[in-house]
Amino acid sequence: MRHFPLFRDLRGRRVVVSGGGETALAKLRLILKTEATVAVYAADPAPELERLAAEGRLRLTRRPVAEGDAICAALLYAANDDAAEDARAAAVGRRAGALVNVVDDLEGSDVITPAMVDRDPVVVAIGTEGAAPVLARRIKAETEERLAPELGTLARLGRAFRPQAEALPMGRARRAFWSRYYDRDGPEALAEGGEAAVTALLPRLLAEILHAKPEPGRVAFVGAGPGDPELLTLKARRLLHEADVVIHDRLVGPGVLELARREARMIEVGKVPGGPSWKQDDINAEMIRHAATGAHVVRLKSGDPGVFGRLDEEMDALDAAGVAFDVTPGVTSAAAAAATLKVSLTKRGRNKSFRLITGHDADGFAEHDWRALAAPGATAAVYMGLRASRFLQGRLLLHGADPATPVTAVEHASRPEQRILSAPLSRLPEALREAGLTGPAILFLGLAPREALEAAETLSDPLAAVGG
Ligand code: SAH
Repeated sequence: MRHFPLFRDLRGRRVVVSGGGETALAKLRLILKTEATVAVYAADPAPELERLAAEGRLRLTRRPVAEGDAICAALLYAANDDAAEDARAAAVGRRAGALVNVVDDLEGSDVITPAMVDRDPVVVAIGTEGAAPVLARRIKAETEERLAPELGTLARLGRAFRPQAEALPMGRARRAFWSRYYDRDGPEALAEGGEAAVTALLPRLLAEILHAKPEPGRVAFVGAGPGDPELLTLKARRLLHEADVVIHDRLVGPGVLELARREARMIEVGKVPGGPSWKQDDINAEMIRHAATGAHVVRLKSGDPGVFGRLDEEMDALDAAGVAFDVTPGVTSAAAAAATLKVSLTKRGRNKSFRLITGHDADGFAEHDWRALAAPGATAAVYMGLRASRFLQGRLLLHGADPATPVTAVEHASRPEQRILSAPLSRLPEALREAGLTGPAILFLGLAPREALEAAETLSDPLAAVGG
C-alpha cells in the first residue's frame, strides 16, 4: 500500500483550485460537498464557475494562481489540463505547505482523490492507486447499490443520539442497539414516518434494550480448517463475525483470524510443540471467565475441533461451569491434505477403512495397532507425526510392513507455503530431515500423490511437487 487512506477535516480550511475548465469543475463538485473555504484561480473561468462564485459558494480570482495564493491552504488541486501550468501550480502549493493533487498525475501528486460513495456522514472511499479505474468504478457502482440512500439520514440522526446511547454498557448491549437501529427499526421508522419517527424511535429502542434481560454468555467451538479461509464453513464465518472474544490455537491461519470483528478480543492460546504453552486448565478457565461476562466466545481450533483437539476436556469444563456451548465442524487437515494430493481417503479395492492417528500422546510416542497398519493396502493419516517418524518407521517395519510402502507428508496444507514430500517407508526419517520439514504436517501412510501413482517412488524434491 503506497497510499494510506485518511479522512481530512476541511471544516473552515482553505482549498485552492488552479484551473477553470471541466477538470477543475469535476473536482469542485466533490470539494464543495465539504465545509472548506474554496478559492479558485483561473484566467478564463467557465460560466458554471462564475455562477458558483456569484452564489458565494467559492471565491474566484480571474488570473493564474501565483506565489502566496496557497498560504494556509490545506489542499491545492492543479486542474489546468496543462502539464506545465499544473507543475507550476503544484510548486506554488508545495512552497506554501499545502498537500498537492495534480489531477490524473499520480507521480506528481502528494495525495490522490478516491472514487467515493457519499452517504454523508457515511463516506466510502475507493482507491486503486491508479492501477484500475474501471475496477474502482465497478466497486463504486456496487457499493452505491448496496447502501440505501437513507443511510446518511439514519447515520446523522444516530450520531446525534450517541451520547444517550452511552447509557448502555460497552459491548454486546450497545452493539445490539445499533444493529437494531441500522438493520431494522431505523429504516422502518424512516420509511413510515420520516425523520420525526426516527427521532421518536431512538429513546424507545434505548429503553427497550436497557431493560432487556442480559443474554447469558456462550461458547462456540469452531473448526477453522487447515488455514485457507475459503475452506471455512459459512457458519464458522458467521460465528467469527459475531464473536466478542476469539480464543484460538497457534495453528489457526491469519487469513481466518481476519474474519473476526475488529473490536473482538483475540486471545492466542498457543501450544508450541516442545515449547512454552498454555495449560489446558488455563484455557478452560479463560473460556469460562469470558462467557461469565455474557460474551459470545468462539473457541477456534485448527482443522476440525473434534480431531486431536482436546475438545472433550474443554466441553467437560464448560458443562461443569454451566456454560452452554455448541460445536461447528471444520475441514480436518487430513481431508485438506488428501485433496491437495488428489487422492481419496478411502477407495474401493484399496482400503475399506481409514485411520486418523497421532504420532504423540500424553505418554510420548503413541502406540497403535501396528499389525493392522503394516498390512498391505493399509492407510492412515498421522497427525503430529513429524518428530515420531523414526519411531513410526521402526514399529511398522517390525510388524512386517513393506519397506517400499509410500509415505507422503503434506506440510502447511492449503496454505501458500504448502510443501509435499513423498518417500518410501524405508527412507522416511532421512527424507523428512533432508527436506527440512518442520510442520505442521500430515503424514499419510500408504498414500502417494495422484501424479506419482505410476512411479510410486520418491519425489525427493519437495518443492517440485504439487502446489509447492
Ligand atoms: N484439529 C486439527 C488437528 C490438531 S492437532 C485438525 O483437525 O486438523 C495438530 C496437528 O494437525 C499438527 O501437528 C499437524 O499434524 C496437523 N495440522 C494442522 N494444520 C495443518 C496443516 N495446515 N497442514 C498439515 N497438517 C496440519
